Amino acid sequence: MKNNLAILPQILRTRASLALPVAKAFLSKLIAQNIDYPFAGGKSRRLALVTFRITPLCNQSCVMCSQRGKTGVLKGRYAQEEAKKIVPLQRYLELVDELARVNPILYVWGGEPFLYPHFMDLAQNMARKCPAFTVNTNGTYLARHAERIVRDQWGSVYISLDGRGEVNDAIRGKGSYQRVVEGIQAVNREKERQGSDLPYLGLVTTISNLNYLHLEEVVRAAREFKLSWHMINLGTYTNAAVAEKQRRFMLETFGVRVNGMEGFANGYNEGIDGRRFAEILARVQELDFGYPIITVPVTGARQIDRYYNELETPVRDHCICPWVHTDIDYNGDVHFCVDYPEYILGNIKEESFFSIYNNEKAVFFRQTLKKNPDGIFPGCTRCYQLMLLGRRRKGF
Ligand code: SF4
Ligand code: SF4
Repeated sequence: MKNNLAILPQILRTRASLALPVAKAFLSKLIAQNIDYPFAGGKSRRLALVTFRITPLCNQSCVMCSQRGKTGVLKGRYAQEEAKKIVPLQRYLELVDELARVNPILYVWGGEPFLYPHFMDLAQNMARKCPAFTVNTNGTYLARHAERIVRDQWGSVYISLDGRGEVNDAIRGKGSYQRVVEGIQAVNREKERQGSDLPYLGLVTTISNLNYLHLEEVVRAAREFKLSWHMINLGTYTNAAVAEKQRRFMLETFGVRVNGMEGFANGYNEGIDGRRFAEILARVQELDFGYPIITVPVTGARQIDRYYNELETPVRDHCICPWVHTDIDYNGDVHFCVDYPEYILGNIKEESFFSIYNNEKAVFFRQTLKKNPDGIFPGCTRCYQLMLLGRRRKGF
């Protein structure tokens, strides 16, 4: 696969209505790249994707999680205290009306989204107003809510599963594999009972040194899940040297203290044998189960080793995210970088979204990013948003 766009024909063939929002997002990115990025002076008239880290709470503690894992920065009492700051349902409902004017993909993640107190009501509203409504979940609450998820016509659900059986449970907690399988089965049963194609189900497998040798097993097991796609996320990792460079850069350039990077410096990239993993990936990509199996980032087999072992080497550059994508944190803070939420553009509890999207801070961030070498910052090298939307570097 040469790039992420290559999945479109396959999606079009197998899930035509899913192809439309994906194609629209790609188109927005292309227009932003060729018009807003070079000519709009740091402003953007595109908005393809709004993500919501809707709660700091989660019922799992996955070992590599930047929030709740070994080096996680959003857990325990601190997360409980932060949970008191969540955006009230009424404000979200107003915000959805505001966003519906441009109809972006609304993508809800967390923590675990089902732990937001009014989640099913909010989800119903989002799905009604913005059909490309997507939820990223650990899957453990799907069975309980399957009937309503299908009835409310959610667009897509992405479920995290990092291995088959015990491989997954060693990362995500005992019993979690079985609960995810039961959740997926419950949603599929409801889709059949209600005669619905929605929601499309996607599986997300995040690679670490605990599961990479077992990837093929989970990909094969997932064949039973009636998926629309399976994403293999190579993982967001950093190390102390990259984190330090980013900290210094953000302080000097934006006057902002970055606190969360150590969450990604967890060492679960270490010891991944690039040659062996490349062979496994090549076998996996040969499989044809009637839905796309996508690696993020798409990269040549020979470069896998560098992806895990040279964390300071960029594999993508020229970040376009702030021209098409914005993240809203559980406390209402708006920022561009999902992984580094410290540079805050504004807060939706106090202002309308669109008065924030092109404000002075947003323009300054975009202009600084664009002027920086290769259009990225020192800590961006494995940023997931960049992997999805950045420019592929020569050799990768
Ligand atoms: S389910 Fe997601 S948010 Fe929760 S611990 Fe695991 S990776 Fe982190
Ligand atoms: S690549 Fe850098 S600037 Fe772009 S979204 Fe990621 S962290 Fe932010």
